Amino acid sequence: MADCIFCKIAAGEIPSTKVYEDETVLAFRDLDPQAPTHVLIIPKEHIASAADITPENSAVVAHIFEVAAKLSVELGLDKGFRIVNNCGEDGMQSVQHLHFHMLGGKKMGWPPY
Ligand code: IMP
Repeated sequence: MADCIFCKIAAGEIPSTKVYEDETVLAFRDLDPQAPTHVLIIPKEHIASAADITPENSAVVAHIFEVAAKLSVELGLDKGFRIVNNCGEDGMQSVQHLHFHMLGGKKMGWPPY
């Protein structure tokens, strides 16, 4: 999608520090890490947000969670991790392309506000 920064990253038009890639999914380091390990896992297909997941496009979400499980081993997150999706204005979503934050390497706080 034109003017979508994560579509451009998925297409290789904007550089990123990739940690995983296949035909449908890309994972790369967040530019502004909020934990010792902070990667973003995105579908290559443009889906604007979690509110736009449908029966037609939801398979990639299951795949993203499979990728997260694989990455948890590769990134050494054996003590656990957190996966976060921010959706919409109240969810503080700043990039309008579905993405899951995978955060780890420290003990997290709760609640997340
Ligand atoms: P959101 O606020 O949940 O939408 O998260 C967007 C995330 O994308 C933020 O954590 C940003 O730091 C991150 N981000 C924005 N642009 C880039 C980029 O070009 N490369 C890597 N991460 C980015």
